[in-house]
Amino acid sequence: MKQIIVIGSSNTDMVVKAAKLPGPGETILGGTFLMNPGGKGANQAMAAQRLGESKVIFIAKIGSDVFGQEAIDGFKRAGMDTRFVLKDGTAPSGIALISVDEQGENAIMVAPGANANLSAVEVAVALDACPEAELVLLQLEIPLDTVERSVVACAQKGIRVILNPAPARNLSDEILKHLYLITPNETEAELLTGVTVTDLDSARRAARILHDEKGVGNVIITLGAKGAFFYNTSLELLVPAPAVAAVDTTAAGDVFNGALVVALSEAMPLPDALAFACQAAALSVTRLGAQSSIPSRAEVNAALG
Ligand code: AMP
Repeated sequence: MKQIIVIGSSNTDMVVKAAKLPGPGETILGGTFLMNPGGKGANQAMAAQRLGESKVIFIAKIGSDVFGQEAIDGFKRAGMDTRFVLKDGTAPSGIALISVDEQGENAIMVAPGANANLSAVEVAVALDACPEAELVLLQLEIPLDTVERSVVACAQKGIRVILNPAPARNLSDEILKHLYLITPNETEAELLTGVTVTDLDSARRAARILHDEKGVGNVIITLGAKGAFFYNTSLELLVPAPAVAAVDTTAAGDVFNGALVVALSEAMPLPDALAFACQAAALSVTRLGAQSSIPSRAEVNAALG
């Protein structure tokens, strides 16, 4: 079993559901409140922890406040290694304020807080303390400079880096050429390649730019309900998504990436790894929420048959 490290964001989602979204200066009375742990980094680390057998190391930054404490308590309860979930003395924990109306329409404001202060030096210190690390998974909700320097540092140590380039941001060729694997969705693939991804053919064109021209080792483009497309020099593969009654697609991509890194840590052959990740993500869209929608390993195995 290869050691998994996830480097990324931790947020607390504060959700108010009400009859309608407020306009500027308006107060809407009534509605219900829910507080959920979130952030792409935390969601993916939790998915890898729940689906795999080894302790996932999470490198992140939270505030010295009640939200950060709640988050770290949750990571510990799940069994994660939280030695490198650092506490920021100045910034608050990352918060997402989410308003949802009766139709399911939402309006979201995110204050990254401590996530914006996770530095490349802090990540490097953590990586040095984990010489057994073989797989690192990152996203783009922490500073781009931290992502870039961490990717290069991992590549120099021979650690395989998987980048889920979400939310969509432009990336330098320097980051791309050091990646073992990149996992954009259709929107992110379009931003990175200029190709509008709508079907197998356009996914192939985008993947070729990332692999053949930019030097990414392996490319997976996730295609929502259509599944996921894999591309490298010797293999091209479309894995269809299992047909499910979708209830909430929040964090489908996070569950996909967490499951994928687990499959790679177990040295599953790529077609099996993709099928495993698609099945885990499909189960998650049948449930409400982000971390609350992550299936167990037994559920994924049973669904795979
Ligand atoms: P996305 O970020 O929307 O591309 O979704 C990531 C992954 O989640 C996809 O590659 C699918 O494996 C899975 N997924 C997303 N939406 C659905 C859906 N409606 N039904 C089944 N699987 C889905």
